[in-house]
Amino acid sequence: ATPTALMVGTGRSAKMGVLIKNGQALEEVNHVKTVIFDKTGTITAGKPVVTDVVGTNQTQVLAIAASLEESSEHPLATAIVSKVKAGKIAYPKAENFRNIEGKGVTALVNDQPAIVGSDRLLADYQISDKLKKKMTTLQEAAKTVVLVGLAGQIIGLIAIQDTPKPMAAQAIADLKARGLTTVMLTGDNQRVAQAIGQQVGIDQVIAGVLPNEKADHVKAFQQTGKVAFVGDGVNDAPALTVADVGIAMGSGTDIAIESGEIVLIQNDLLGVVRALDIAKKTFNRIK
Ligand code: ADP
Ligand code: MG
Repeated sequence: ATPTALMVGTGRSAKMGVLIKNGQALEEVNHVKTVIFDKTGTITAGKPVVTDVVGTNQTQVLAIAASLEESSEHPLATAIVSKVKAGKIAYPKAENFRNIEGKGVTALVNDQPAIVGSDRLLADYQISDKLKKKMTTLQEAAKTVVLVGLAGQIIGLIAIQDTPKPMAAQAIADLKARGLTTVMLTGDNQRVAQAIGQQVGIDQVIAGVLPNEKADHVKAFQQTGKVAFVGDGVNDAPALTVADVGIAMGSGTDIAIESGEIVLIQNDLLGVVRALDIAKKTFNRIK
């Protein structure tokens, strides 16, 4: 590859909102067989909103959740705190806050243990059949459910919705049309992941993945060919590094942007398709 051709390739792409940090990455793009996407903030807009609150005392469910989530930077936490502030619901100060990566948060509220997170985090808690059924229905509607526990009991749940980006389905269709396999990796529940995967037409969904497991999934796919990983979060940095081509969202965290070789400035997943087309053109010309 001549340096001049690479410059042309990367210059043209920058105009299209695709920042390519080095020519090597552009070359690798030509050999990619699988494109793996993170869900939250990559396939979805990453702006989740609370849609449902279930419990005998919904105000208490929200107040307890907000007490804990105030100390968390997770998008789900932001959604819960926004909802509570919009409703002008007062909530107590939490103490001994702990973040449990990929699962949820715990703290003491009014000297009682409180917990907010996935059903995996609250696996030891008793959940009524009625609440479990409600949870399943919400998840099948592509809503993420977090359970709220206080003093050893589940007091309710909060459903949160994050919708796919406008061009996500188109980008995935274009990648599939070019013969690539598309995969979504997420820490979210299987039912929610499946519902969102269906909305965007992705080939394969892998759910319930803990943050430190993402890179291992990338390595597993590398057994069958080159892999591009597309992500935005702190959690995604190892997967972006391990992948043959790391593609970071421009809206992503600094560490994700540093870890990727390609950055999608406009956060538009069609940028992945553009990168493929630019790589093809650039390297065909060199040959
Ligand atoms: P994703 O891959 O979608 O970014 P994470 O790995 O961050 O998901 O989290 C996985 C799951 O853990 C979430 O769907 C949620 O159920 C739970 N969880 C993580 N952090 C929090 C939090 N701060 N509050 C409530 N639940 C959380
Ligand atoms: Mg993300």
